[in-house]
Amino acid sequence: MPLFRFFMSLSLFFAAGCLGQPTRQPIIDMHRHAPLISSTPATNNMKTQLAELEAHDVVLALMSMTSSEQLDEWSNKASDSTIAAVMMPCPKNLAKPDYYCFPDHEGMPELAWLEANLKSGKVRALHELMFNYDGTLPSSERMRPYWALAEKYDVVVGVHTWSGPPPGASIRRDPNCCPNYDGEIGNPKNLRPVLEMYPGLRIWLQHVGSDGDQKPELWTETLALLADYPNVYLDLSITNSVLPIEVYETAIIRLVDAGFGDRIMFGSDNMPVNPILERMNAIESLSSTQRRDILYNNAANFLRLSPELRRRHANPT
Ligand SMILES: [Zn+2]
Repeated sequence: MPLFRFFMSLSLFFAAGCLGQPTRQPIIDMHRHAPLISSTPATNNMKTQLAELEAHDVVLALMSMTSSEQLDEWSNKASDSTIAAVMMPCPKNLAKPDYYCFPDHEGMPELAWLEANLKSGKVRALHELMFNYDGTLPSSERMRPYWALAEKYDVVVGVHTWSGPPPGASIRRDPNCCPNYDGEIGNPKNLRPVLEMYPGLRIWLQHVGSDGDQKPELWTETLALLADYPNVYLDLSITNSVLPIEVYETAIIRLVDAGFGDRIMFGSDNMPVNPILERMNAIESLSSTQRRDILYNNAANFLRLSPELRRRHANPT
């Protein structure tokens, strides 16, 4: 090989990352939302979100839907890059419409409708389960048929955990929001009866670390649940974007040190992706392999993506 070609291929080799690793980093965002029912229709919401995903190489996003119309809209236009999920149980809104999702069925998707969409594959996840906001326990009677459907169709379930948001944050900024809000319900221990009843369920805990160190029992229960159920994963949304970086760093190190680095998944909760990535890159103790796992591999395993789809995500045509 002529010398200049040798150096050329050497530089290409390094540009592509050592040992053949591509520098391109596909991302799976496990935590996104189409607008809540109460939101003023943001005409460009889908366009804006899809542009944000594309700009950061988010190849797949779990998108929470709040009505059947919204599901149709997103499924028609954004099916390659999103997995449609369904939100429940939604909190009461003291204004009209009186629930933040599925207002015709008191904040829950209608069961026959949900089953038809799970069967067809149009809905492939339940997310975000809003127990804190709604004030009912995950093991409540009302939820049983939904857990049973998640198990029957083997779909992943994202649960809002930990005690936030505090009054005045997120949708609690709306004075009409959530008369039954109960932060204690976000303790992951409340998922134990559900996991005992449906041990195969793939559940991911959302917002892990979002109380910082203020409630140590939440850390104890989170780590215990992860230890007892290998099919429980988590996202650090809000902890990774809004909380001080020290809190985020402590959370991620605590999880990695406890042996759960292979269960942490990336979630933005619709916060801008770039600052989250910058904060993650600033955590020096994370290796590039751990970063890649958090950004893509852990979620790909949790979602059981096929080798073919993983190849396509790594090398789009
Ligand atoms: Zn969320």
